[in-house]
Parts: sequence; structure tokens; C-alpha cells
Amino acid sequence: MPTIKFTKLFINGEFVDSFSGKTFETVDPRSGEVIARVAEGDKEDVDLAVKAARHAFDNGPWPRLSGFARGRIMMKYADLIEEHKEELAALDTLDAGKLFSLGKTMDIPNVANVLRYYAGAADKIHGQVLKMSSELQGYTLQEPVGVVGHIIPWNFPSTLFFAKVAPALAAGCTMVVKPAEQTPLSALYYAYLAKQAGIPDGVINVINGYGPTAGAAISSHMDIDKVSFTGSTEVGRKVMQAAATSNLKHVSLELGGKSPLLIFDDADVDTAADLALLGILFNKGEICVASSRVYVQEGIYDEFVKKLAEKAKQWVVGDPFDPNTRQGPQVDKQQFDKILSYIEHGKREGATLLIGGKPTGEKGYYIQPTIFTDVKEDMLIAKDEIFGPVMSLMKFKTIDEAIKCANNTRYGLAAGIVTKNLDVANTVSRSIRAGIIWINCYFAFDNDCPYGGYKMSGFGRDFGLEALHKFLQVKSVVTPIYNSPWL
Ligand code: NAD
Repeated sequence: MPTIKFTKLFINGEFVDSFSGKTFETVDPRSGEVIARVAEGDKEDVDLAVKAARHAFDNGPWPRLSGFARGRIMMKYADLIEEHKEELAALDTLDAGKLFSLGKTMDIPNVANVLRYYAGAADKIHGQVLKMSSELQGYTLQEPVGVVGHIIPWNFPSTLFFAKVAPALAAGCTMVVKPAEQTPLSALYYAYLAKQAGIPDGVINVINGYGPTAGAAISSHMDIDKVSFTGSTEVGRKVMQAAATSNLKHVSLELGGKSPLLIFDDADVDTAADLALLGILFNKGEICVASSRVYVQEGIYDEFVKKLAEKAKQWVVGDPFDPNTRQGPQVDKQQFDKILSYIEHGKREGATLLIGGKPTGEKGYYIQPTIFTDVKEDMLIAKDEIFGPVMSLMKFKTIDEAIKCANNTRYGLAAGIVTKNLDVANTVSRSIRAGIIWINCYFAFDNDCPYGGYKMSGFGRDFGLEALHKFLQVKSVVTPIYNSPWL
């Protein structure tokens, strides 16, 4: 078990108590027991953090360094993270119930690579020469947007921290980060490592705290230039409202989803069942792009259901520190109760429980992999984001019907297609309104690939060079040339 080294707020390069002196508990989802008490930031602390970030932006070296120099420091930061990957992975397992084996081999090494990706981009940020009239010459500059507030959810505490922090650093921004109240521990460790790497004081500040207090203080702050939010659609709406009624700060929103996986008759049933299970059970279903709606074409439906149930029974739920476990506990009691209440709702609405549907019975917030069949499009379990290991299985006949079903949602984050037919894959992928389409794979992730939503799943993209542009703004510079009437 890791030692908990950092529990305070991180402002202007120092760990400090909160202004109020208040703390809150962070809890181990394997047992419901308290791991640590963490300083609870509120408006006063956000004000101090913004002041530090503003000073670092207006007067400090970070935005003024060459992109190359910023990139070198970011590379060092990445190396330090890799050196501490065991401790960092263990913190996310303790705080969020994430699989430790995946954390140390995948999540944490990859956040180091996210930093490296944007470090490599930092010296390639440039504007354009403008083609103007013969009397004028002009060019554009890509400048950092300023002080950024990042508000982060609990399901990927490390990955989503760097999905936001890394491109903002490369752009030359300074920032205040609010991790989710359920998972503050790794964010504080990243603040410590940032200082070790040589990132100047005030560039990264971390304020632990609750959404309606610390989070709201960020989204309504008059001296924050941009808020970059990942979380639920409901809270995203509040963030946008707060931005609109304060200083009209830039906003990007990465929100919820209810993503469809479409499996066509020509699919290999075995592979398709594996994909469908992974799509809903990975990270215990606590993933915004989870394939929570699975549509199977009628020709293979019965065989698919049989295979799926057999495979789901083999899925190991248990302690996330155990390397054999494939699914740990849900993040907290609230999430656990919410998922179970959706399951009860599904039963009441008349869906058939194929497998699961209950807590595993262990101490902690463990829920059985749960699959409903006979789900109707208008049932709550087919419409709402459950954010847990609960699949809604439905049947379709034609390609047109599959497309219609896939788009029958207010969300538009992701979709999956399983078919060997290229025409079907191309037609369907162009017809679904979602930010990413996976064909014959799911969660295939690359730092160069932008992620984000259509419709009520938000706007703006994380990852890829798209994300860098969220933290930049364009300035045009125009001057007359020698034969101009302006002279
Ligand atoms: P949430 O919206 O409850 O909280 C997210 C963050 O917002 C937390 O840090 C929280 O403290 C803060 N917050 C809460 N109320 C606030 C307020 N009034 N003002 C400002 N900040 C506030 O979401 P969650 O339960 O932590 O995370 C799950 C949600 O996140 C799901 O809907 C999921 O789909 C979404 N998500 C989306 C993506 C994506 O890339 N689109 C990625 C991961 C998670």
C-alpha cells in the first residue's frame, strides 16, 4: 500500500492548508474505510490559486519560454512520473478502485506519454502568413489563452488530469486544477512532481474540494480565461451558465455518453461478445465512452446472447490490487446505490435480467456484471447514462434500423461497429452522430486521436493536436507595406 504523502492544497508551489482549515475524507471503495483526510478548498483558496496562476502568466517565465524549453521541462516531468508509476497507480486504485495492474502498465505510463506528445508539439505552435491586399502584410500568432481552470471527474483521475494539463502546459498557459472530491490523491502527487521537474511556481495549482463550492468558484471566476470541464452533462450545463454570467470565459465540455455498439450478422460471434463485454465492463463501466447499448442483428442474436452470458460469468470481480481481477469496486457508495437503483428500474420496466443484477456480497462497492435483454428504446436503462457495469441488449433487423437506434440518444460521444463488410462499416460510421467510431475494436486509444462529444456529450476535444488548440487563441498582426496609402 502506498504511503499518503500529500493531502493539502497546492498553491504557488507550496502545499498549504485550506483557508477555512476544513478537511474532507477520501474513502477506499474496497471497504468504505477512510484512506485520508484532505484539505477542503473553497472560494478563498480558488482566489489564492488564481492569483498565483495569474502572476505566473502575466509576469512569470512559463508563457515566455520557447516552446522547446517548455517541452524539455515537460519531458523531465514525464520521466519523473514514470519513475513513480507504482505509487501513482496504487493511489488511483485506493481512491477509485481502478485495477492496479492496468494502472502501472497502462494508465500511468501513458500519462507520461501524453506529456511527451504535447512536449513534442510545444515548439511547433505557429500562426500563418496572411494573404492580404498588396498594401498590407499580416500574420497570425497563436497565443496561450491565459489562466485555465480544469475541473476533473473521478473515473480516470490520472489520464484526465493530463488530458487537460499537458496541452495547456505546452500552450504556455497557467492553471488551477480541481480534481474530483472522490479522487484527489494522485493529483496532489502530480503537483509535487511538477515542482521537482522544474515547472515554475504558480503554473500548476491544485485545489481539492467539492463541486458546488471549489468547482463553482472556478467556473464563475472573473480572472480565469478558460474553463476546461470533464464530467456529467448536468454539471457541464452549470459550468457553462457560470461562465456566461461571469466573464464569458472560454468553455470546453467533455460530458456523458450512452454509446451504442452495433453488431452485424457477419461478425464473428465470439470476438463480438468479447468486445461487447469489454465495452461495458472495462473500468467497471465507469467510463464515458462505455458501450452501454448493444444492438445485435437478428441472425446471430440468440447465439450471441448465449456466448455473452457464458463469458460474463467468467469475468472476475474482486480486489483491484489482485492481478487476476478484471473489475474492481464502484468508486463510492453514491455511485454504487445509483447503479443498483437503475438495475431495479430496469426490472420494473420489464427488461429481462440475463445475468448479474446484484452486489457481489463482498464488503465494499462491488456489483456483478449485469446484462439486460428485452430492453426497449424508451426504457430508462436504455436512455440514461448509468456509469456502471450494466448492459442493455437489443435486436435489430436492417442497417437503417441500426443507424436509427444508434442515433436515438441525446448523447454523441462514441459508437462501435462490428462487421466484416466495408460498405456497412463506412455507411454506418458516417451516419452516426458521435465524436469517435470504433470499427471492429473498442476503446482503441491513441494520444494522437481526438476524443469528445457531439450533441449533449459536449464540445471541444481532448487529446490530439485538437486539444492543444483549446488552450490557444489567435491574434492577427497587420502592417502597411512600403507603397501603402496608410504610410
Ligand atoms: P460530475 O459532473 O458530478 O463531477 C465532475 C467534476 O465537476 C467534479 O470535479 C465535481 O466536483 C465538479 N462539479 C460538481 N458540481 C459542480 C459545479 N456546480 N460547478 C463546478 N464543478 C462542479 O461528474 P462525475 O460523477 O465526477 O463523473 C462522471 C461523469 O463524467 C459522467 O457523466 C461521465 O460520462 C463524464 N465523463 C466524461 C468524459 C468525456 O471525456 N466526455 C470522461 C470521463 C467522464
